[in-house]
Amino acid sequence: MSPIRISILGAGAMGSLFGGLMAEAGHAVELIDVNPAQIAAVREQGLLIRNDAGERRLAIPIKRPEEATRQPDWLIVFTKAMHTQGALAAARHLIGPQTRLLSLQNGLGNAEKLTAFADASRIAIGMTTVPADLVAPGEVHSHGESKTRVVMADGSENAALAALAAALDAAGLPCTVDPDAVVAIWEKVAFNVALNSLCAVTQRTVGGLGAAAEGRRLAHAVASETLAVAQAEGLAVLAERTHATIDHALDHHGGHKPSMLQDLLAKRPTEIETLNGAIVRAAERHGIAVPRTETLYALVKLAEHAA
Ligand code: NAD
Repeated sequence: MSPIRISILGAGAMGSLFGGLMAEAGHAVELIDVNPAQIAAVREQGLLIRNDAGERRLAIPIKRPEEATRQPDWLIVFTKAMHTQGALAAARHLIGPQTRLLSLQNGLGNAEKLTAFADASRIAIGMTTVPADLVAPGEVHSHGESKTRVVMADGSENAALAALAAALDAAGLPCTVDPDAVVAIWEKVAFNVALNSLCAVTQRTVGGLGAAAEGRRLAHAVASETLAVAQAEGLAVLAERTHATIDHALDHHGGHKPSMLQDLLAKRPTEIETLNGAIVRAAERHGIAVPRTETLYALVKLAEHAA
């Protein structure tokens, strides 16, 4: 497999993990970020990865967008959703005529944002269940099984995307090109809309939510609203599968604090717009009522405002 030139835009938890594992597998990876602490740590001590394969420290280049000059084969966007446009604008000079863009960010609207920077025929999106935590600057942890599904934004078949998926797979990030990746994206959105906003508003962990019957009922009811919108969009989402994934998280992800809760606690903006906000707007277009999702949207916005 010939090495792929990959730049990771947003080298936090996910970007560091994907970039680190791809570098370890022999690909030419550059991390791009704006966080001075992360940049200093990776430059001075390398990137420490701890996952089921063990713990190791990798030397890997990390740059601010304005320092980077190489136009990669793939630019993988791993900022939080609210930073995508600003990050791409600052990294516009890295998107060459051959550069393809991939977003594996949570939420809706990622393809649309990327399309402002490259033709749809060079944009891929996807859904990943890989978990990653940046426990300290320059130190990323991950564990357990995962699956990543990718597809070109225009639905076309693409040899470069197949090669990237195979490379991710070989690097320890199981990945397939899947025409139904958009269905997977929406099912994960249903999961995140429910658990992220409920945990954020109640300041409970996923297990804390699952411990109360009201928490479980509400989580499923909120997810059902997103699934109804997805069906109105013509997507063959599977309600049973989504509810089973939620039950699994409520039962087994006890101490996990979803990123929206972590962001509120740290007084940072959250991804509420691309989760609950996007569902409220899509529901309006279809004339569907999503009262729980809308209330949670307003409550998280209020909490963000207060922070
Ligand atoms: P993170 O906050 O750890 O990392 C985001 C990084 O983007 C940070 O290092 C930040 O400094 C950087 N950034 C912000 N503005 C930038 C800019 N203008 N230019 C360059 N870099 C910039 O977030 P994360 O947990 O890695 O999540 C990234 C995305 O992946 C989110 O959409 C999230 O929902 C999704 N996701 C996360 C997980 C997870 O387990 N962490 C799992 C699946 C999907």
